[in-house]
Amino acid sequence: MMTNEIQDQNLGLIDSPLESHINLLDFQKMFPDEAACLGYLERIRWPNGFVCEQCSNLSEPFRSTIRPRVLKCRSCHYEASITAGTVMHRSKTSILVWFWAAYLVSTHTPGISAKELQKQLGISRYETAFQILHKLRGAMVRSSHDKIGTEWPLELDVIFIGGRTRSGIQGKTNQVPVIIAVEIRRREVRDPKTNKVTKRALAGRIRLQKLPNKTALSVDQFVQNCITPGAAIMSDDGTEFTNLIKRGYDHQPVPMRGDKAKMDRTLPMVSLVTANLKTWIDGTFHGVRKKHLQAYLDEFMFRFNRRFYRSVSFHSLLDLGTLNTGVTYREVYDKLDYATKDEI
Ligand SMILES: [Zn+2]
Repeated sequence: MMTNEIQDQNLGLIDSPLESHINLLDFQKMFPDEAACLGYLERIRWPNGFVCEQCSNLSEPFRSTIRPRVLKCRSCHYEASITAGTVMHRSKTSILVWFWAAYLVSTHTPGISAKELQKQLGISRYETAFQILHKLRGAMVRSSHDKIGTEWPLELDVIFIGGRTRSGIQGKTNQVPVIIAVEIRRREVRDPKTNKVTKRALAGRIRLQKLPNKTALSVDQFVQNCITPGAAIMSDDGTEFTNLIKRGYDHQPVPMRGDKAKMDRTLPMVSLVTANLKTWIDGTFHGVRKKHLQAYLDEFMFRFNRRFYRSVSFHSLLDLGTLNTGVTYREVYDKLDYATKDEI
């Protein structure tokens, strides 16, 4: 039974395309050039027509062909940037390239590497493709910040993700501890032949974080940031989990003593996520540098958490959803360890 479940969920993550995506031809028709992209952004930002932030003037702004991203108020000459508040702000890369990058990232399963993106979009420098992907990943994590554990119990574990050693062989010294929390949801499944209903467990949302080390202190910090107080948590009886009860969690430690079969049985969702994560990292990126690991974890988390909802969207990737909320890009972005320079 366990095997079927794992296969089911593999399908959910790795194989099924995101259904709500626009097909390639439609996308091309919608966004044939930079002007179409800017028009789109402008309509999202000012759905009822341009409004000046400075003087609240409502008339059609001045437009310049030399600076197509800027709209200038007719009354006070204030200049508003169409891309402010999005990942594209101050970028020297064409908006069209950004749109295509977001399109490819949101529709490609299991993801796309910087090298592939560079090739597909004819981006001249590898670094540019890399920075674009990193900014898109930054947008992914911003959309998965709330705590888990309110509705469903959780499985928790610390695993090691192998960075590569210089010789290219996976080595212990280069491995990074990563903490995984997975919601255990239940759903009812009806057998079409017997009509019998059984309850099956499935992995709900996940949280993943690179830890500085495998200690109780690191685990405590993660848990406080990501898990609702009082949540039910199942884990092995490792010393890194010793404070959970003291901190008010309903914690059930289970002794494993390195027994892999028992581990799979007791923490099936953690085993599932770990297997998927490792396959994905190896298959898509062929090894990951330590300093970029959190960005990859964020992308995986984003994809995994959305596999039920289908619409990854393009919109959240470009940060278009925040255009009207008043949250500034800087405010959110400064907290993250990603490049914010203007070089891309
Ligand atoms: Zn004005």
